[in-house]
Amino acid sequence: MTGTILRGRVLTFVDEPQGADDQASYRYYEDGAVFIADGKIVAVGDYHKANIAGATVIDHHPNLILPGLIDTHVHYPQMQVIGSYAGALLEWLTTYTFVEEQKFGDGVHAARIASRFFDELIRHGTTTAVTYCSVHKVSAEAFFAEAEKRNMLAIGGKVMMDRNAPEALRDTPQQGYDDTKALIAEWHGRGRARYAITPRFAITSSPEQLEMAEALAREYPDCHIQTHLSENLAEIEFVKELYPNLGTYTGIYERYHLLGPRTLLGHSIHLSHHEAELLADTRSVAVFCPTSNLFLGSGLFDYERLHKHGVRIAVATDVGGGTNYSMLKTLDEGFKVLQLRGQRLTPLNAFYLMTLGNARALSLEGTIGSLVPGADADLVVLDARATPQMALRMETVSTLAGELFLLQTSGDDRSIAEVYVAGRAMKTTLPN
Ligand SMILES: [Zn+2]
Repeated sequence: MTGTILRGRVLTFVDEPQGADDQASYRYYEDGAVFIADGKIVAVGDYHKANIAGATVIDHHPNLILPGLIDTHVHYPQMQVIGSYAGALLEWLTTYTFVEEQKFGDGVHAARIASRFFDELIRHGTTTAVTYCSVHKVSAEAFFAEAEKRNMLAIGGKVMMDRNAPEALRDTPQQGYDDTKALIAEWHGRGRARYAITPRFAITSSPEQLEMAEALAREYPDCHIQTHLSENLAEIEFVKELYPNLGTYTGIYERYHLLGPRTLLGHSIHLSHHEAELLADTRSVAVFCPTSNLFLGSGLFDYERLHKHGVRIAVATDVGGGTNYSMLKTLDEGFKVLQLRGQRLTPLNAFYLMTLGNARALSLEGTIGSLVPGADADLVVLDARATPQMALRMETVSTLAGELFLLQTSGDDRSIAEVYVAGRAMKTTLPN
């Protein structure tokens, strides 16, 4: 059988780790083989048991082979404002973001940045990203066109926003509906593309626009929905002024039937007991964005509390409020956020979250996020000796968990030795 065997130390999760050394939560092959053909994973196991007749073998030892990393919340039009000197969320939005995103009405600019965006994802080992485009239809077209060129499983949507933003960034309820509908018709389910209905957040969407988002969600139940929730205290106060009769911020999205198992709620930091229950009951996903939450001083995500409520949790970079494209760096900062809350994120849990955990949050387990037969062949190869200090530290690392933790605390794009998208090597062919 023709195909490719990726040989190396293979790690894939099968369930959420319960504790720091839950060996039942993962499969690990010291000399492992992932057999891929036609963009899919055919078999995973020990190399010496694999049938290698006719297959090309690529040996990645001593590196680790994992499923490609998944980012569940990122804004591609913010690539050129990442790291802008700002205070909190609303200042950051008005001073930088709402100025920058106006450029994406220009299809040439959007295409250039979209191309650079997917370059950065690959460079950092991310094979799927759930992405906010700008308000402009053309920005979403550029995003999906670039993902299609690379055969990447990408989820995205044009933001719907009809108030509290510069005129050049506002649609209308009807325009936002029509453009979203046209984009879904053109892209959703085409190749590996999937659409996310994207009302930016309650501040920038009028009740009429949220009604339109509700109509879209009803018409297209297999699309994702993404928005922002309870990121910052000033934001929450403003939202309450705008929707004085709906009780809580989460209650607004509930009122417009935007909560559910395909809904991703960026940040979800400052939530009442009732709001946490609402997220759990509707199976909505709270998206933890640690580098962004620290950079904008938004607050400390309460992982344990939401987890105890049974809320589904994902992790994400939130570039450009987030400060790094790397999911390794993101979980490094996530670990520190939880330290400040007196909570512990184990190395196994961190790598579960970047892979299978995020895939489950997207209801895409079996397709991405784990190395199982039938899954798409999206993989990342991690090098824990990528820098001199990491190589030196690795001399004293004796466990898999220790190696994972070093990758998380010291790793970045240099630790990504290779990336496979639908079976094709992508990183080593990238321009520098
Ligand atoms: Zn965001």
